[in-house]
Amino acid sequence: MSEALRTAEILSIGDELIHGSNLDTNARWLAQLLERHGVAVVRFTVVGDDPVLLEAAMREACERADLVVATGGLGPTLDDRTRDVAAKIAGGPLWFDAPSWQAIQDYLRARNRPIPDSNRRQAEFPPSAVVLSNPVGTAPAFRVRIHRAELFAFPGVPREMKRLAEDHLAPWLAKLPGAQPIAQQCLLVLGPSEALLGERIEPFMVAGREPAVGVTASGGMLTIRIVARGRDRAAAAAACEDTASQIRPLLGEWLLAEGEATLAELAVLRLVARKVTVAAAESCTAGLFSAKLAEVPGVSAVFLGSVVSYANDVKISALGVDPALLQRHGAVSEEVTAAMARGACERIGARLGLSVSGVAGPGGGTAEKPVGTICFGLCLDGAVTTWTLRFPDLGREFLRERAAIELLAAVLRHVP
Ligand code: AMP
Ligand code: MG
Repeated sequence: MSEALRTAEILSIGDELIHGSNLDTNARWLAQLLERHGVAVVRFTVVGDDPVLLEAAMREACERADLVVATGGLGPTLDDRTRDVAAKIAGGPLWFDAPSWQAIQDYLRARNRPIPDSNRRQAEFPPSAVVLSNPVGTAPAFRVRIHRAELFAFPGVPREMKRLAEDHLAPWLAKLPGAQPIAQQCLLVLGPSEALLGERIEPFMVAGREPAVGVTASGGMLTIRIVARGRDRAAAAAACEDTASQIRPLLGEWLLAEGEATLAELAVLRLVARKVTVAAAESCTAGLFSAKLAEVPGVSAVFLGSVVSYANDVKISALGVDPALLQRHGAVSEEVTAAMARGACERIGARLGLSVSGVAGPGGGTAEKPVGTICFGLCLDGAVTTWTLRFPDLGREFLRERAAIELLAAVLRHVP
């Protein structure tokens, strides 16, 4: 390709994708690979195995983009039509590649599998295609010029697709002239709604701004993602940091952390760095906070254990909460979460104890404590802090998730 690659599209092929039985994870993985190489992905298309629709989708993508990466439809059966359709658009018959057929037979023989004649189809390629060998499966991939695009066609099986993309697409991308590496920087925000955050940083979010600034919401957190291009990766990273340094002062205490890590990873990193051991007393989350901590490798250095104290009796027996507090203030109260956090520290022997008790619904809400009312407690080296948040009643799953996230955030806020 003589000039720099401007746009890329990803074409995911297969009936299982449009019927919703399989999620199109290939497109996501490929987009990240392409972005890392500075290639702008402008469109994902998902299409079934229907030959007419597939032909239209492939033709259009190859007319619009400089690079099209297709996955799926390279199997041996008649409903795998990627090569036939590519040949039709390229305007010529499929040709048979004897070395590929030999490689397919060798692959099957080495695994003591029968060699059906239908596998021969996988050794056929569109006119002027370059064969991309597949060491991890039977379907070889190919690359072919169609209209303005370079089309890469990979098998749909994610493990094979990744291997082939790394072997054949990544080196091809690295050799492109004028490739503009991309850098990304993430600011993790907790507190404001997406709309409120959007207003605060509105001037940065205009379409076409360089570096681009976007906000995504996931898991109760917001991520501000800054994406820049540069003549090399260092220049792109410097452009990101320049924008980040303008945004940071606008965020104040909303800014929780920076980087690509998950909140759980950041919390564990902090605890390990400060050598603070942690224990939890979980009521409405019933272990969800602990489970999130346990997802992070290396957490055993700081995480001692937790009490799932759903019932009042367990809050009393396992954590030493005074029954009078429960009677007077109710299980969802800061008085009780204070005692739970202290109990977690004392009974488990941790420096940091976290606790949560809330009304997850659908029943149990009152006028004073409606569904979504969640009380938190934190005890660090004997000093106790409590707070209450009132979340919208978006269901038990949301509320339990949101409460667990709040505890992870509390680690970052309170363990400096
Ligand atoms: P194919 O290459 O079309 O025979 O696809 C084989 C299998 O790979 C499918 O049955 C799916 O399980 C999986 N697969 C195909 N396309 C995708 C995709 N875009 N994302 C994730 N998995 C896929
Ligand atoms: Mg398929």
